[in-house]
Amino acid sequence: MGVTLDLTRAAVRAKPPNLSGLTRKALAEALVTAEVVRPDKARMRAGQLWRWIHHYGVTDFERMTDVAKETRAALAEHFTLARPEIVERQVSRDGTRKWLIRMGAGIEVETVYIPDVGRAGALCVSSQVGCTLNCTFCHTGTQALVRNLTAAEIVAQVQIARDDLEEWPSPKADRRLSNIVFMGMGEPLYNLDAVADAIDVIADNEGIAISRRRITVSTSGVVPELQALGERTQAMLAISLHATNDPLRDVLAPLNRKYPIAELMAGVRAYPGLSNARRVTFEYVMLKGVNDSPAEARALVNLLKGIPAKINLIPFNPWPGSDYACSDWGTIEAFAAILNRAGYASPIRTPRGRDILAACGQLKSQSEKLRASARRLLAPTEDATS
Ligand code: SAH
Ligand code: SF4
Repeated sequence: MGVTLDLTRAAVRAKPPNLSGLTRKALAEALVTAEVVRPDKARMRAGQLWRWIHHYGVTDFERMTDVAKETRAALAEHFTLARPEIVERQVSRDGTRKWLIRMGAGIEVETVYIPDVGRAGALCVSSQVGCTLNCTFCHTGTQALVRNLTAAEIVAQVQIARDDLEEWPSPKADRRLSNIVFMGMGEPLYNLDAVADAIDVIADNEGIAISRRRITVSTSGVVPELQALGERTQAMLAISLHATNDPLRDVLAPLNRKYPIAELMAGVRAYPGLSNARRVTFEYVMLKGVNDSPAEARALVNLLKGIPAKINLIPFNPWPGSDYACSDWGTIEAFAAILNRAGYASPIRTPRGRDILAACGQLKSQSEKLRASARRLLAPTEDATS
């Protein structure tokens, strides 16, 4: 009887808490709650662990050589530092890397590293699994929201990229991963608490130390959260604009029906810390015959007057079943030329990592599709015509 009970308990015992992605405060609290550290020593001990976790990138308490042996054993008994599982890793001919990461059963997200973007290379992280916003040109938008990611799950994406790029201990100079963009799956401003905590961890000077000025949060335009984003994170702002009039933006980015362009622009103008050195990026996806006329380029210039802004023209990345096509290259160049004449330099985002389906708006769904087709090949009895 006693044995049966023990086994039952072992079977239902939760996984040990993971310390790798906690904020400093949460880390200290976890140590005290588990009675591994006395409350009066919590801050000091958390600081010591912080260096190991976020500067040296260790995933094993045994490597923490300045922590007493008994404390290391107690830590290992109560906690883990394990990374989430990498389901798939791909490297593109152009050096783009993509990881499909399993955060839990049925919870998979993609993270993409793009070299030569930003100062040295940018990591595109996801903030949610799926998205509630249904932008009509975005594949993520066709997927129901599964859930928000936790701060730790956002930080884990950076840690996994760092493991792969061999960037531990945190390099002072010559980094390959220099910038973070929240442009993966999901709407970061619908998960602001976790995004803000994750940025606190990623930007911490005694750890990963990516400056807040090199962290960009992209939003479809959740106007009421803009102020809080700026105040809590001091991150750079990117707005997915895509249209210069409400009727069109209502269709492309349906959140516009709630927060139309004039309100969005007023929110952007009030974003804390804007200056010529800290500009807002406006993203504009180029959709053939939809939003790519010279008149719209001029309307864009007018709309942005007086705002310290950069413009990022994104060639549309088609996905199966989408209603749109990418604008012709000549049309994109003509559009860009109008922006250039108005003082906005080199705004076309070159498509990267296309051979591994790592481009914007293609995240997760394509790998799911590929894995589904691989499954079909392995199981020929299933319908192979779809
Ligand atoms: N939800 C946030 C951040 C993730 S989307 C947002 O919308 O800003 C990151 C960027 O990719 C956005 O600018 C989005 O509009 C763009 N995007 C989405 N699908 C795309 C596609 N199929 N082709 C090109 N860009 C796309
Ligand atoms: Fe969501 Fe952004 Fe895609 Fe719109 S573009 S559906 S907000 S991920």
